[in-house]
Amino acid sequence: LLRLDTPGNGEIVDITPGVASVIRTSGVDRGLVAVFATGSTVAVTTMEYEPGGVSDLQALLDRLVPPVSDYEHNRLNGDTNAHAHLRAAVIGPSETIPVVDGRPVLGTWQQIVLIDFDDRPRTRLVTVQVVA
Ligand code: ZN
Repeated sequence: LLRLDTPGNGEIVDITPGVASVIRTSGVDRGLVAVFATGSTVAVTTMEYEPGGVSDLQALLDRLVPPVSDYEHNRLNGDTNAHAHLRAAVIGPSETIPVVDGRPVLGTWQQIVLIDFDDRPRTRLVTVQVVA
């Protein structure tokens, strides 16, 4: 289990070192690792984690799902974070990654990232399970 404090608002966090650490601790050499973030305003994906890519992905999501208040979720529930729920649903809460030689099979420029879309700071829990 990984626990992270984030400021929200589309913050993108590289969680690759934490996932790699859980795999090492498990002792599993070949298998799969499932990485799942709990919550309806948070997502997990992979990307090239560098400032340009981070900025471009945040800009893309702002265009795709604008952070406006005019959504049914906000209207019906007196809430402000409908855009966060929608972005999280589009990207999804998890990734399953093959493990070979005790490491996740990622590209050199491919990191596992958590994206916190909520409109306030959150403490996030990411379940990391390794299956041989
Ligand atoms: Zn909400």
